[in-house]
Amino acid sequence: MSGGIESVDDFRLRARAWIKANLGPIQPFDASQNCENDEIEREAVARDRALQRQIWDGGFAGICFPPEYGGLGLTPAHQRAFNEELAGHEFPSRFTVPTFSPCAAVLLEFGTPEQKAAHIPAILKGDEFWVQMLSEPGGGSDVAGATTSAVRDGDDWIINGSKVWTSRAWWADWGLCLARTNWDVPKHQGLTVFALPLHQPGIEIHRIERLSGETEACQEFFTDVRVPDSDRLGPVDGGWTVGSRWMYFERIGHNSPYVTRPVGLTNPEAEGPSAISIARRAGRLDDPVARDLIGEDRTLEIATHALQNRIAQAAASGRGNVDGSAVDRLFRGIARVRRATIEYEIAGPQAAAWTEEEDHASGSTGMRYLMRQVSCIGGGTTEIARNVIAERVLGMPRELSGDKGVPFRDVPRGPKRA
Ligand SMILES: Cc1cc2nc3c(=O)[nH]c(=O)nc-3n(C[C@H](O)[C@H](O)[C@H](O)COP(=O)(O)OP(=O)(O)OC[C@H]3O[C@@H](n4cnc5c(N)ncnc54)[C@H](O)[C@@H]3O)c2cc1C
Repeated sequence: MSGGIESVDDFRLRARAWIKANLGPIQPFDASQNCENDEIEREAVARDRALQRQIWDGGFAGICFPPEYGGLGLTPAHQRAFNEELAGHEFPSRFTVPTFSPCAAVLLEFGTPEQKAAHIPAILKGDEFWVQMLSEPGGGSDVAGATTSAVRDGDDWIINGSKVWTSRAWWADWGLCLARTNWDVPKHQGLTVFALPLHQPGIEIHRIERLSGETEACQEFFTDVRVPDSDRLGPVDGGWTVGSRWMYFERIGHNSPYVTRPVGLTNPEAEGPSAISIARRAGRLDDPVARDLIGEDRTLEIATHALQNRIAQAAASGRGNVDGSAVDRLFRGIARVRRATIEYEIAGPQAAAWTEEEDHASGSTGMRYLMRQVSCIGGGTTEIARNVIAERVLGMPRELSGDKGVPFRDVPRGPKRA
């Protein structure tokens, strides 16, 4: 102990012993989070709740969260030590993003003491999963152009509109929702953030089937949803300030100091078959073309982790430009696309046509290739990351926008989409 805080080394030793004694090996779905059907998904959700509760009971939940809300009040270096010790072990993967980051991080920064006391311990105990409701049918990149409206009614607000692409809303508990509260000011100045219980009258949740057959993405329709003002997060019409931090935490994702997740998923098969195992299965381990591709894949993996570590350290130390996280977001997206392409190229025809029974591994390679662009879209697109880097990191001129300074009500909009 020094200055009343346990040293990182002592904490690491304690964490190592506890993890070894209590957590089993990492499971494939810890990383992929894709379950074959709803029943298996519900079981995985229940398992993640139990795992998070186990970490809470073991005294290792909320390492960087303040003690008054159930956390340990330790430093990002302690969280990192825990995450390093967690390598190779099972973990409550569905809590990482978006529950811990950005949602809990945003609650911590902008919530009232009552809101934090109500939700942070519940999250740390595994009782509350949160989702983020930013994107709308009219567009997700222009977050400040939200048209879901919240109108004041006494001590409540009445919400109408729709959010879309909300991952996991069908089984999660609460959501952060960005809504328009003022139409007579420019778009960034008329937004407010609310916390909503997801399963209540007035919220209809529809599942969306992706190309892969997964249905974890949802669209929510709000019809006169009544939200008490006590569930408003941050000031009325001050939602952009909250939203900017929200999107920052979204961009840093797993690198957030609030996230418990193994550093480097040491069981390669947990992230899907590795390039080497794909080459082995295709009988191409000695093929010089395949070997080149394996080298490129490994280089991208190493560079991705190195960049993530650097961004995580900068985020933890408070040094550096916060928008530098967009560099990591951009690299992660394009590297994932390239790696999915490499794996597909190595696998050859068996990744293009398969039956589930015959070769699940080849199927997952083909499916990752088919879905590769997801990594450039979810969490804000790589195009928007390029804009952020250009304007806020490199200081290049801002993109021209036709709605600057225009009351949102007067901004031309396309036809309303369902
Ligand atoms: C796996 C996954 C999970 C997701 N989870 C969630 C979630 O939980 N919650 C949530 O709210 N949303 C979620 N999303 C939605 C995601 O945030 C949006 O899809 C994304 O922000 C893009 O919005 P859009 O699809 O409406 O595309 P649009 O905004 O319509 O953009 C279309 C294209 O135009 C480009 N573009 C738009 N504006 C610009 C610009 N100014 N400069 C350059 N290019 C531009 C975009 O990059 C994109 O290529 C998820 C998406 C995916 C794929």
